[in-house]
Amino acid sequence: MFSYRHGFHAGNHADVLKHMVLIAVVKHLTAKPTPISVVDTHAGAGLYRLDSEFADTSGEAQDGILKLLASPLAAEPPPLVADYLELIATFNPKGKPRIYPGSPFVSQALLRQDVKDRLSLFELHPTDSKSLATHVEQLNAGRQVTIKREDGFEGLRGLLPPVQRRGLVLIDPSYEIKNDYGRVALCIQDSLKKFATGTYMVWYPVIPRPEAHELPRRLKTLSNQAGKPWLHATLNIGQSPERAKSLTPGEPTRRPGLTASGVFIVNPPHTLKAALQQALPAVLEVLGRGRGQGQVVEAGG
Ligand code: SAM
Repeated sequence: MFSYRHGFHAGNHADVLKHMVLIAVVKHLTAKPTPISVVDTHAGAGLYRLDSEFADTSGEAQDGILKLLASPLAAEPPPLVADYLELIATFNPKGKPRIYPGSPFVSQALLRQDVKDRLSLFELHPTDSKSLATHVEQLNAGRQVTIKREDGFEGLRGLLPPVQRRGLVLIDPSYEIKNDYGRVALCIQDSLKKFATGTYMVWYPVIPRPEAHELPRRLKTLSNQAGKPWLHATLNIGQSPERAKSLTPGEPTRRPGLTASGVFIVNPPHTLKAALQQALPAVLEVLGRGRGQGQVVEAGG
């Protein structure tokens, strides 16, 4: 536990998919004048430097946000990509991308002070929860944002249903512990009983592990049983040819790193499927690296 630090991965292809969808969901919810609640059960540190030691070590943003920004797509992006790039730009007013906002800052940037939207953040990592608190303090957001260094699955229980009766729950664990997959499914099952009209967004890695394959299937079944519409999108950027090959004879093949991830949304905005069907092929054209690349958008319920 706690070996995962999102700073190594900030702005990678998985963040591109997740944060693009997150923006679409929060924008949809805030289009109505009544207040909303956003709960982020696994918040991370909130803000990341793209030029930090963390980011340099893994270089994952090079295959994510930085590649997207440097591509011709940035000049003429489809709407979801445009909203995403615009939001990233607000954190980098001098032009050069140095700061990458994590999910708490992505959501907060879209929330409204005047109608009393609320954001509840959970982060267990001792260092990252401190960084999160420091970053959030700089926002001067007052009561709009609360942070707890608690287990997000447990903490969520006490927040449902939210007084606003409208809102989003983002569940984005690191899946360092195998039982995170099971906890996500149980959390959705339990939460839908308490707050059936809420929007739930789950991120997961597409990796060769039975639990990871099983998770979207379980979430589809749970949504169907609850009679709720769902949307599932995956983005696979494929294997990087240099990363996969051996560096020198006899040296073990380098680990390819995460190549694919998915988001599963219960009660998604009705416009999201078409928007993703337009955005993901365009994103893949930029981020795709070869063998295995692809994207899927499917919906049901
Ligand atoms: N949501 C963030 C974003 O998009 O910017 C990234 C979150 S990262 C994938 C997962 C985070 O969950 C890590 O910072 C980890 O320390 C934290 N974490 C792990 N288990 C947790 C738990 N049970 N409750 C709350 N946070 C947890």
